[in-house]
Amino acid sequence: MGYENGKIYWIVPQNNTGIALSVYGNTQVSQNRNVIVWSKQDVLDQLWRVDIDNGFARIKSAINYDYALNIWLGSSNYGNCDIHTWSDNKNDSKINFKTIDASRNLYLIQCYRNDADNNLYLTAESTASGANVKWAARNTGANQVWQLIEKTNAGGNTGTGGGLGPYGKYVYPTYCKKLSDDFRLKATDTERQHLGIDIRDKHADHGVYAFADGVVSFVQDANHPDSGTNMWTMGNCIAINHSNPTTNMSGQYARTLYMHLLSAPTLTPGQQVKKGDRIGTIGNTGKSTGPHLHFGLFVGNDARMAPGVKGWTSISLLPVVDPINALPFYHVDRS
Ligand SMILES: [Zn+2]
Repeated sequence: MGYENGKIYWIVPQNNTGIALSVYGNTQVSQNRNVIVWSKQDVLDQLWRVDIDNGFARIKSAINYDYALNIWLGSSNYGNCDIHTWSDNKNDSKINFKTIDASRNLYLIQCYRNDADNNLYLTAESTASGANVKWAARNTGANQVWQLIEKTNAGGNTGTGGGLGPYGKYVYPTYCKKLSDDFRLKATDTERQHLGIDIRDKHADHGVYAFADGVVSFVQDANHPDSGTNMWTMGNCIAINHSNPTTNMSGQYARTLYMHLLSAPTLTPGQQVKKGDRIGTIGNTGKSTGPHLHFGLFVGNDARMAPGVKGWTSISLLPVVDPINALPFYHVDRS
């Protein structure tokens, strides 16, 4: 046992494991958003990734790993615990796990901002659902001892993968959870723009599964690609407009895109698919240097996103988001 770098956990008080550390609100993150304890559920608000750095750790929200547990600026004893983008608040998000019982994953979570504040510990104000979470001096109350409960996930279309996330009920589109490339909204000096995630083909099940219920909006046969600019690069591909509005984005609809499939799709635009339906096999068609699934997630809120809408033209106009926020168990792993 013991916590491990990169794993996903619920963080629950030792003396009430029915509640869990939670981002306040409905699966939303924003700067300085409060952190509370809430009745434990299988939702991203309550799942946290432990990232170990050099001599300290950060606890990042599974809603969006750009955000980490943070101590309110200037706080001393009994300062508030909130979330903040760790990249621009590097010291305020540093923590240290002080072991109480590693065999049961019990720890104190110590503020590690600087020497003056290292006597502060993550503290639930009470063990009632909805109680606030603070940074307070060490006391003998068990509200400072936290248990890390690992979240494991079978994935694929087994019915146990996915869950109820910010995009409604969904499953993971593949069994393999290793990525060869992550999402970049904009190109950097060294890396190109990449409007999706590249999922590797490292599991015995090579299937590609519908992310959620919806209607097929676009298909392409790699042998007869659409005449639009660079359309051939997608190879055999399918797009699905999803039926259920998102739970945290003002009811906007999501569309998913599956590229480089092995074979030309047998589905046609307008056909309904159910969450977890097998829609294809991971392949290497189009602009691809090895078998992988490029998975894109688009969220919009107008008629172009209505579940029955068909055609490619409208897709390129939609806002695109990082799929990793919906699929927290995917991670870059080139091993
Ligand atoms: Zn890609």
